[in-house]
Amino acid sequence: MPPAVSERPTRIRVDLDHLTFNLRSIRSHVGVPVMAIVKANAYGHGLVPVAQHLQKQGVEQLGVAFVEEGIALRQAGITAPVLVLGGIFGRQVAQFIAHDLEITVSSLDKLRQVEAAAEALGRKAVIHLKIDTGMERIGVHSYSARAFIEAAVASRWCVLKGIYSHLACADDPRSAMTLQQLERFFEACAHIERVGAPMPLRHLANSGGVLHFPDTRLDMVRPGILMYGVLPDAAAQRTIDVRPVMSLVSQVVYFKVVKAGNPVSYGATWAPSRDTRVVTVPIGYGDGYPRALSSRGEVLIRAHRYPIVGRVCMDQFMVDIGQDSAWNEDEVVLIGSQDGNTITAENLAQAAGIIPYEVLVGLNERIPREYSGG
Ligand SMILES: *Cc1c(COP(=O)(O)O)cnc(C)c1O
Repeated sequence: MPPAVSERPTRIRVDLDHLTFNLRSIRSHVGVPVMAIVKANAYGHGLVPVAQHLQKQGVEQLGVAFVEEGIALRQAGITAPVLVLGGIFGRQVAQFIAHDLEITVSSLDKLRQVEAAAEALGRKAVIHLKIDTGMERIGVHSYSARAFIEAAVASRWCVLKGIYSHLACADDPRSAMTLQQLERFFEACAHIERVGAPMPLRHLANSGGVLHFPDTRLDMVRPGILMYGVLPDAAAQRTIDVRPVMSLVSQVVYFKVVKAGNPVSYGATWAPSRDTRVVTVPIGYGDGYPRALSSRGEVLIRAHRYPIVGRVCMDQFMVDIGQDSAWNEDEVVLIGSQDGNTITAENLAQAAGIIPYEVLVGLNERIPREYSGG
């Protein structure tokens, strides 16, 4: 790492032992193979180090969103099976095959494109069929999937490895939508039985499904956020023991006394009612720390919880420590624990009015990642 980067006091700490713990915890809970989802830079934890670690732990399969994420895994030497979950363009098929990436086939048209490219290369493509059971995103509607499924089964240039769908409401344990989607998925899978073909891997459950709907586990599960130890939603139930993999820390870079009535930061939106001590923390929305936490977020310094005051800037924000003491270089915890106090990604999301996914994925490449354990 160049010195300029390692000098940065702000860093994301990734605890690979917690990742191991979570993978084991999920596995023993569901009792079926796991496709670990590592899209979007492994939910901000770092695509390649996370994938390498999961592969070392014997994860059965990895899942990413885009072909370029799959190629990055292959270029880093990852050999585990990788499914690309997103919709494909015909022109990309050769890339999938060249890098041994499994393809989501989400329409009859796309099936034909995959077949044509595979035949031209003289190499079979490994595919998973995408069935739409209620998300209305990519995939063939379950109620009109018969011809699609029969064509895939009959395909000479495609190896039908999986069939899957995606749950729209599994974060909410009380939603009736999930079991309806499961039923529709079974109706689509019945076309495979009807033609007497071997059943490919059926997979449906995201983190919400894993947490709340045991019937959706089928032959494989696809947890993303839960593997990183974060719950998908404030309404979600902690039915599985997982530990947060990510913490986010910085250091105090400045201390000053702000006089009563003198506003802090852009827009002069906040001012203390009496003289107070304010420290500056060198991280901001330019790092992906949500600006929505302006005068709403909290941090931990010296075992205390203090409020962010005024607007979060691009590279810094200010914290009111009242009459307490803090020093330059004191550790500031933005996500994680300090002396028994904890701030979670879920807490941050709630304060910012966003979802935990956005908190994790938003933290960008400007923040160095530091790996421990494993
Ligand atoms: C992102 C994604 C997942 C993982 O979702 P989580 O809610 O993070 O568990 C699973 N399946 C598909 C198709 C996805 O796009």
